[in-house]
Amino acid sequence: MNSIILNLENLFPWITPLDLFVFLLAFIIVLLAFALYVYRDSKLRGGNSTSWFIWTLILGGLIPFIFYIMVRSPMTKDDIKEIEEKKEVIELQKKYYELMISKEILKCPVCGEEVKSDYLFCQHCFTQLKKRCENCGHLVDKDSKICPYCGHIFDEKGENK
Ligand SMILES: [Zn+2]
Ligand SMILES: [Zn+2]
Repeated sequence: MNSIILNLENLFPWITPLDLFVFLLAFIIVLLAFALYVYRDSKLRGGNSTSWFIWTLILGGLIPFIFYIMVRSPMTKDDIKEIEEKKEVIELQKKYYELMISKEILKCPVCGEEVKSDYLFCQHCFTQLKKRCENCGHLVDKDSKICPYCGHIFDEKGENK
């Protein structure tokens, strides 16, 4: 080490050992900063953070750092978790709305009492609300001329043919 410093002193007489020390210290700090950044970042992204840390130190900081930035996973673990949580919320909302639709409560157009969407008749005023297609069995609007499910044609009065 001393001979290296002496050689450097011969080559660059304006460099003092203190300069060299400061330069070395700065280099180590920069190296550590790169290695620590790579370590923390790869930990966030679920990478092999310890070996990234060691390789960044061994290979001199900047080049492994640039390499790391190019190959790292584009999303952090938190990002992935957030996306999955959002998906779950959307699934739940979908199920909720499906449930609401299946239990949809309507009002009888004649008496205004509550009826369900699959009622054929209002249980309060006996008004016919829907009719059943005799061809496929689906419930359709009382005034439908055609069954929207199977294409069965009802006659003018809306009765089953
Ligand atoms: Zn009614
Ligand atoms: Zn039908």
